[in-house]
Amino acid sequence: MKKIVLGNWKSLGDTASNAVLLAALAAHPPAAGVEVGVCVPFPFLTQARAVLEGTAIGWGAQNVSPFGAGAYTGEVHAGMLAEFGCRYALVGHSERRQLFAETDERIADKIDRLLAANVRPVVCVGETLAEREAGGWRETLGRQVAALAARLGPEKLSRAWFAYEPVWAIGTGRVAAPADIAEAHAFLRERLMALGVPAEEVVILYGGSVKADNAQGVFAVPGCDGALVGAASRVVEEFIAIVAAAG
Ligand code: PEP
Repeated sequence: MKKIVLGNWKSLGDTASNAVLLAALAAHPPAAGVEVGVCVPFPFLTQARAVLEGTAIGWGAQNVSPFGAGAYTGEVHAGMLAEFGCRYALVGHSERRQLFAETDERIADKIDRLLAANVRPVVCVGETLAEREAGGWRETLGRQVAALAARLGPEKLSRAWFAYEPVWAIGTGRVAAPADIAEAHAFLRERLMALGVPAEEVVILYGGSVKADNAQGVFAVPGCDGALVGAASRVVEEFIAIVAAAG
């Protein structure tokens, strides 16, 4: 199966630094069988499209409205992302769950909107450090996917991609051990299968402190389809090296 590398720029960047980064990405196409994309802040979608259109590299957003078009001040709906050529949108990132009180129900509604607009939802799930230390990571992952399945049903959920992002590994420099990633991915597939999702075909990425020097180890994990890369996706040499490691 092909490997996937997605960058999450978070709320970082400006047009000058983006121009350098996007030009470097366009000049380093991924190897055959590797899919690459960058999820950028909304104001930079036009810039990403202008540079990446016609290359093999996709672009997307980091959030979407749970509603459609209408009187929802401040929201960006899935149809707008589709019009701007977004291939993907992140949903349920732990920063949004923690800082913006996103619930599984809201996340499910966002997935639904994205699927209807033909934009691939990349659904982030993962446990906190306290949950891991208390041995409760399975319960957290199980609860997160069960809540989505209850609202969406297995067919819709099977069209989403997942990113296993343990909260304690995000932005901490503490990448999860290969055995822990393998175990969590296998558990997610098992839970999804139990919910009626044909999970052997479902894409599950790993995210959390992926860097050039640990990317190969992450890509080698059984059942891991690629990486969601935060901070390192804003560093030209790092991201290009991670993409190269996926090939
Ligand atoms: C992320 O924000 O999705 C992420 C994985 O961040 P980082 O790579 O910086 O840990």
